[in-house]
Amino acid sequence: MAGGGISKVFAQMSPARGMLDAMDCLFCKIVAGTIPAKKLFEDEHAIAILDINPQAPVHVLAIPKKHVASLAKTDANDERMLGHLLNVVRELAVEQKLGNGYRVVINTGANGGQTVDHLHLHVLGGRAMHWPPG
Ligand code: 5GP
Ligand code: ZN
Repeated sequence: MAGGGISKVFAQMSPARGMLDAMDCLFCKIVAGTIPAKKLFEDEHAIAILDINPQAPVHVLAIPKKHVASLAKTDANDERMLGHLLNVVRELAVEQKLGNGYRVVINTGANGGQTVDHLHLHVLGGRAMHWPPG
């Protein structure tokens, strides 16, 4: 095979492609525990961790355990997972005493400002948020 090699063969196979992406994914490594993070919550389907570079007094990331690159890569089969993440966020907000309100953000794709290609929900609170966002 010209100019290929085994990684190119794998990259052309979409399930294997997903596996390769997950092997190289920061949040998959945090889910697996191979990269440390301050975990606030964990269940069978999701974790919540403190953001390493907080943008508010409370800045938590809710992350599905399953590797999904972004909201744009989800489909109708992910409805339960997406709903579950919102339930996790609501419970976190109570636990973090965000009774005055909070903001939930899903940066998606390049224009959305997404920098880690594994779906995550930012939960920002502890101060008043501004609108419009930057
Ligand atoms: P995005 O820009 O993709 O919406 O959000 C990625 C978030 O992940 C950023 O807020 C960034 O601070 C956070 N982040 C990046 N690397 C790490 C890390 O190693 N540990 C933790 N806890 N958060 C991280
Ligand atoms: Zn991942």
